[in-house]
Amino acid sequence: MKVISITPRGYCKGVVNAINIAKQTKKANPNKNVYILGRLVHNQYVVDELAKLGIHTIDAKNATRMDLLDKIDEGIIIFSAHSVGKDVYNKAIKKGLQIIDATCVDVRKTKDIILDFLNKGFVVLYIGKKNHPEAEAILSISDKIIFVSDEADLDKTKSFDPDKLMVINQTTMSIIDIMHIHQKIKNMYPNAIIYEEICSATRVRQEAVLNMVNVDLTYVVGDPHSNNTNNLAKLAKLNSKKVRLIESVAHINLTDLINIERVAVTSGASTPISLTNQVISFLQNYKPGDSVPEVVKEII
Ligand code: SF4
Repeated sequence: MKVISITPRGYCKGVVNAINIAKQTKKANPNKNVYILGRLVHNQYVVDELAKLGIHTIDAKNATRMDLLDKIDEGIIIFSAHSVGKDVYNKAIKKGLQIIDATCVDVRKTKDIILDFLNKGFVVLYIGKKNHPEAEAILSISDKIIFVSDEADLDKTKSFDPDKLMVINQTTMSIIDIMHIHQKIKNMYPNAIIYEEICSATRVRQEAVLNMVNVDLTYVVGDPHSNNTNNLAKLAKLNSKKVRLIESVAHINLTDLINIERVAVTSGASTPISLTNQVISFLQNYKPGDSVPEVVKEII
C-alpha cells in the first residue's frame, strides 16, 4: 500500500500563535485562573492537553461566547483565534476579567475590511458557517451585515442598494463553495464588490487535496467540529474513491484498508502534527492482521 502524505497539512500560524499565547499566559500567571472562552481551536486533544497545563476551556453545546462568559467571574480570559464580538469584549471588561486576545491576524484583516466598507455606507454580505464563532464575532459588528451560508440563502436576502454591496467570507470556507456562491452573486448583483478572504493556510491545504491523483482512500485527520477539516474532507471526495474523517489513529476502521493501493493522509489546520504522524506511520507499516494502536498523547 502506497501512503501519500499530503503537504501542507496540520497547524496553521493562527493556531500555533493561539496555543503559544495560552501557554505563555499560564506560565506568566501560575497562581491565577486562566480560561479560554470556547475552544481555543476546534480539536478535543488540544483542549485536553491545555487542561493538563491548568488552562481551562469554557465550552458548552450551542452556547454563544456571550453565554459562556456568564460562567467566569474572575481571572484571565483568552479569546480564541476565531475572535469575539464587541459585545463579548465589553462584557468581559465589565466583569473585571483580564483579557488576552489570540485573534488570528487573518480574521482581524477580514474584520478591518468589513468595518471600512460599513463606514463608507455599504451593506456587507458575509458568507460563513452557521453558529461558527468566527461568524458570530463578525455578525455582532453591525446589523448591516447580511449572513448567508450557501447559494440558497442568497434567494432569501432582503432588499438593499445593489450598488452599495460588498461581499466577504469566513476565512475557512471551501474554495469551491465560495467560487459557486460568488458566481451567483455576480449574476444577481453585477456591481457588488467581492473580497475573497479564505486565508492562505486554508487555501493551500485545500489546493493540495484538489491536486491529489489516483487515490483510493483519503484520511483527513481532525476534529468533526472543525470547519476547515470538514471542508478538506468534502473536497477530498472530488479526488478520492473513499474519504474518512478521523480524530486519530485509534479511529481507523481496518475494513476500509481492504484492497486499497494508494492511501492519502492530510489534516485540518487545528490538528496536532503528532496525531497525523501516528496515522501515517501506522499506514506505512501496516500488514493485514495488525490491530489499530492506542493514541500516544504527546500532543501540543
Ligand atoms: S485557519 Fe486561517 S484564519 Fe483560522 S487561525 Fe488558521 S490561519 Fe488564522
